[in-house]
Amino acid sequence: MRVQALQIASLLLIATTSHSQVGSKIAVEVDAVYPQSEALYLDVHQHPELSLHEQQTAAKLALGLRELGYDVSTGIGGTGVVGVLRNGSGPVVMLRTELDALPVEEKTGLPYASTVRTTDDSGTEVPVSHACGHDIHMAAWMATARIMATARNRWRGTLMMVGQPAEELISGARAMLNDGLFTRFPRPDYALAVHDDARYPAGIIGYHSGPIFTNGDIVNITIYGKGGHGARPETTIDPIVIAARTVLALQTIVSREISPFDPAVVTVGSIHGGARPNIIPDQVKLELAVRSFTEAVREHLLSAIDRIAKGEAAAAGAPREPLVEHLAAAHALVNDPELTRRVSSALLRDLGSAQVHDLPPEMASEDFAEYQLAGVPTLQLRIGAVQQDKYDAALKSGSALPSLHSPFFAPDRAPTIKAAIAAEVLALRELMAVPPVSLR
Ligand SMILES: [Zn+2]
Ligand SMILES: [Zn+2]
Repeated sequence: MRVQALQIASLLLIATTSHSQVGSKIAVEVDAVYPQSEALYLDVHQHPELSLHEQQTAAKLALGLRELGYDVSTGIGGTGVVGVLRNGSGPVVMLRTELDALPVEEKTGLPYASTVRTTDDSGTEVPVSHACGHDIHMAAWMATARIMATARNRWRGTLMMVGQPAEELISGARAMLNDGLFTRFPRPDYALAVHDDARYPAGIIGYHSGPIFTNGDIVNITIYGKGGHGARPETTIDPIVIAARTVLALQTIVSREISPFDPAVVTVGSIHGGARPNIIPDQVKLELAVRSFTEAVREHLLSAIDRIAKGEAAAAGAPREPLVEHLAAAHALVNDPELTRRVSSALLRDLGSAQVHDLPPEMASEDFAEYQLAGVPTLQLRIGAVQQDKYDAALKSGSALPSLHSPFFAPDRAPTIKAAIAAEVLALRELMAVPPVSLR
């Protein structure tokens, strides 16, 4: 999942009871598979791989599924893994985990912290860590695969376990679909996923009906001027001054053009131009992150960015129009209302309202939306990951907790993984319930 870089963790008041133990019959099953799940967590945590390079990670998941009796295919959409388990007639349900890690240096100080460094696609040496917690998702996903393969009398249908590459690039889901995920394999009736959440105590399970993540767009703007000597501005057209005006004018889109009832973000996250104090450069580059929940707001933001960039350049007499490039887009992630109602009811029934909460949407993006765009009802649940005493201290002091993608993000692994397993197994059993025996 991708979040705004300087997101401050928004603390909601969650009942501060401990969720270190999943509180129902499912807990026994979860505890039984946890040691293997934790071993996988520590392994992938210490051997993270960047997006599109998840070979070793994918191999570990494929091997695990094969040992459990799944029909496993690898290399789907790059390094993607698909494991299918057929168990009689019933719905096809897909459960996704991501495989990729991030170029972030882990600074948690944990004894099992990642020290991996690698060379990225541009040839730069970078640190690598699971700062988004995809290692948590993989550990839970494999444990869920184990419980489902073991207790086959508890469900009917076809379970489709999907290990997806390159979520952080918002490209892996599309790559798997383009490689026949829904044509070479059974087409799911439902698709499920979980994501850890750095804003809530470990063990909390969150659901929300409707949009939960935003449309995420990246826009690059290159502003052209006319370079020259810094002491002879009258002979130049200064793109740094145009860029400065453009950055400020862009801030008026959300504040003046969008309704206060429509959440939206326009962030200029990078600005590059010039090399020396006494040289006026001939161009400046801006990189923007743009977020919205609806298509109407998204279209307004993108067209306003284009209009303002061109208008400011024209006002300054720029020699040519700025180049406005729309580079990447993630679609808003919408939890299917009926699917959400069914699964949240099952979770509340088994685990109770102290652990299961309706949590608000956030300004982040996620390519799980691709499966929903392909016509499959989707649900992504949130799993709180913060150690309870750290959460309580942050609540008391008002200080921010490390967000996902932070070098300091350190999920409280046991309660987080256990809650994720419980949520996944209960959701799958609800959707693939064994029909009641006829009394005739
Ligand atoms: Zn992420
Ligand atoms: Zn993520």
